[in-house]
Amino acid sequence: MANSEYEYVKREFEFDRRLPASNWIVVRIDGCHFHRFSKIHAFEKPNDENALRLMNACATSMLEKFPDIVFAYGVSDEYSFVFQENTELYQRNERLILSSCSSWFTSFYMMKWKEYFPSKELVQPPKFEAEVLCYPKPKIVCDYLSWRQAECHNRNQYNTCFWMLVKSGEDENKANEILKGTLSKDKNELLFQRFQMNYNNEPAMFRKGSCTYRQKIDITQRIKVNFQ
Ligand code: ATP
Ligand code: ATP
Ligand code: MG
Ligand code: MG
Repeated sequence: MANSEYEYVKREFEFDRRLPASNWIVVRIDGCHFHRFSKIHAFEKPNDENALRLMNACATSMLEKFPDIVFAYGVSDEYSFVFQENTELYQRNERLILSSCSSWFTSFYMMKWKEYFPSKELVQPPKFEAEVLCYPKPKIVCDYLSWRQAECHNRNQYNTCFWMLVKSGEDENKANEILKGTLSKDKNELLFQRFQMNYNNEPAMFRKGSCTYRQKIDITQRIKVNFQ
């Protein structure tokens, strides 16, 4: 296209945003309309363990594909990926980072579906949106992750109560009405009084979400072992 009459199409109409230097980049992926997607595919409520494991498998493959991801945190249909502050992935080009992360995650999700749901047909293509956030200090990255985990706790506690009520025969409107305005301790109490359920004994993956990260291996130790 160089020096052609069409060159202006690229020169004048393509805008690339470069993400600010020395910032930690967080890419958050979230399933589109997963409320419906989970219904269509009959996910167990409130938490389908296989669906969460599939999300975790996608996160692991993201860490393999993008070496600059240092940590990832996931809950429900979302996963946040933290890239090290000086990553030069796509020269920090925002649209290339976003499109490659969401397409890799989505295609891996589809590729692995059968492994996690051997008896369920994938009847609708899943779609994941990605957004990017830039944080100048590690403290803010930690606060971001704490915020996502606090959301996980609030939603999961609500959903656990909601589905226990619905499964015990309440209709969905009534269940929402019962839970309206309740505090965290009220929900724990409701679960205990009505269902003899201790919320703290629920699986940690449901209550706290999942982390994906690399494990450091001491190579010198390994070499020593091999030579013994
Ligand atoms: P949006 O497109 O705006 O993200 P959404 O329908 O995906 O809409 P979210 O707020 O992202 O809404 O919530 C995801 C929904 O997907 C949850 O409310 C839940 O119903 C369902 N879901 C996701 N993962 C699971 C799972 N592992 N088990 C059961 N349900 C799940
Ligand atoms: P990048 O990741 O930078 O896009 P690329 O390898 O995808 O690298 P492109 O410039 O996009 O490079 O070119 C796509 C390449 O894919 C072509 O050079 C060709 O080798 C191959 N390719 C794509 N579609 C076809 C096809 N239908 N038949 C044969 N080869 C194809
Ligand atoms: Mg969603
Ligand atoms: Mg979500």
